[in-house]
Amino acid sequence: MMTLSNSLAHADVAHQLHPFTDARAFEQNGPLIIDHGQGIHVFDSTGKKYIEGMAGLWSVAVGFNEPRLAEAAYKQFQKLPYYHTFSAKSHEPSIKLSEKLAEMAPEGLNHVLYCSSGSEGNDTVVKLVWYYNNALGRREKKKFLARTNAYHGITMASGSLTGIAVDHKDFDLPILPVIHLTCPHFYREGTAGETEEQFTARLLKELEDTIAREGADTIAAFIGEPVMGAGGVLVPPKGYWESVEAICRKNDILIVADEVINGFGRLGTTFGAAKMGFTPDIMTVSKQITSSYMPLAAIVFSDAIYEAVADNSHKIGAFAHGFTAAGHPVATAVALENIAIIEERDLVGNAARLEAPFQSGLRAFADKPLVGEVRGVGLMAAVELVADKATKAKFSKSGQVGQIANRIAHEEGLILRAIGDTLALCPPLIVTEADVAEILRIMGVVLDRTAKEVA
Ligand code: PLP
Repeated sequence: MMTLSNSLAHADVAHQLHPFTDARAFEQNGPLIIDHGQGIHVFDSTGKKYIEGMAGLWSVAVGFNEPRLAEAAYKQFQKLPYYHTFSAKSHEPSIKLSEKLAEMAPEGLNHVLYCSSGSEGNDTVVKLVWYYNNALGRREKKKFLARTNAYHGITMASGSLTGIAVDHKDFDLPILPVIHLTCPHFYREGTAGETEEQFTARLLKELEDTIAREGADTIAAFIGEPVMGAGGVLVPPKGYWESVEAICRKNDILIVADEVINGFGRLGTTFGAAKMGFTPDIMTVSKQITSSYMPLAAIVFSDAIYEAVADNSHKIGAFAHGFTAAGHPVATAVALENIAIIEERDLVGNAARLEAPFQSGLRAFADKPLVGEVRGVGLMAAVELVADKATKAKFSKSGQVGQIANRIAHEEGLILRAIGDTLALCPPLIVTEADVAEILRIMGVVLDRTAKEVA
């Protein structure tokens, strides 16, 4: 971490409240100031080089200095730096991106609504779904089903869908009618003696019982990340999503895939839902849509939803929702170029090809001390550290060992994310086999040094 002798660090501590940061600890330790990027690497303000093993916030697909994205932004800034999409106004980049997203999305998802972040996206999903059900005269059908450990954002509605306790604490959330079902993570949620199949059956029974108890006519949608990210890279058991889909279809409950992390190749498929075996009615996408070079999110939704929403907007006189920056021309131009690069360089295929060396290389650490579970799909993975491998007991103070590993990883030149005592990895999609080998080498060192320090 930076010393406070650095004047930028001083100013940061004095004036910036950082997201997801202990402000008092930050006053002591200061920031890690990142200065510039190159490929899969970033460099801090002292010149130290790191592999960005988290692709920023699970988001920089094409690496940290892609000139084509800078050029696309500059060109659009010169031609039309801003225009809006309210009141039937439009512009070429937002039109072309909508057409492209409809082409990439599962069949029948042909309509796009823009905003600037994943949180705004999921907030807007709630409004869109409520508007849709009101349009159909189903005014009681409002509740959302989500899962514990889900991360859907931090605004009032998306933060309510999020199922992580610390994200609710002292923010007076949730405020929505949302029911959080059991997290589909067998290692932590499976009970003693239960098989993975029995665990899945229990979760599906919980879903059916919840619908029976609440009434299908009160439940609007089931929202989920195909593979959960910020909750700790939690991979659902085989068959889970297919059965969730079947139960939702039977009960006329919409399925929302939060593809904010999974989308655009992270799991080795264009969207995560396909990899997990289901087809949503609505997808929220963001992050890798622009490699996070510009803030952008999109909700891609079905023809059936569009038809009801369009009718209702005609009845009322407008679909009275939208943001000043919705479909921002520079953001959508950058997204188009970013998606073109993903396609030209076959980065989805790259993720699929590197899944085996990356995932099996990490699983080879299962025998190391402290390693409880290694999990992941495609190019996202996590290593959960535990106090006792046999009993899966957690450390007495959650996050302490994770922070030790995080510090050691920084010393070794790797940025990972400690989620409690789980170490997450999600490298840029441009990684090569040699990069993966280097990440694995450093992870081995990090795990050994952490075990030694904790012993
Ligand atoms: N949904 C998922 C799955 C996410 O991982 C995130 C952010 O990490 C969000 C939504 C919220 O996105 P944003 O931080 O852009 O608001």
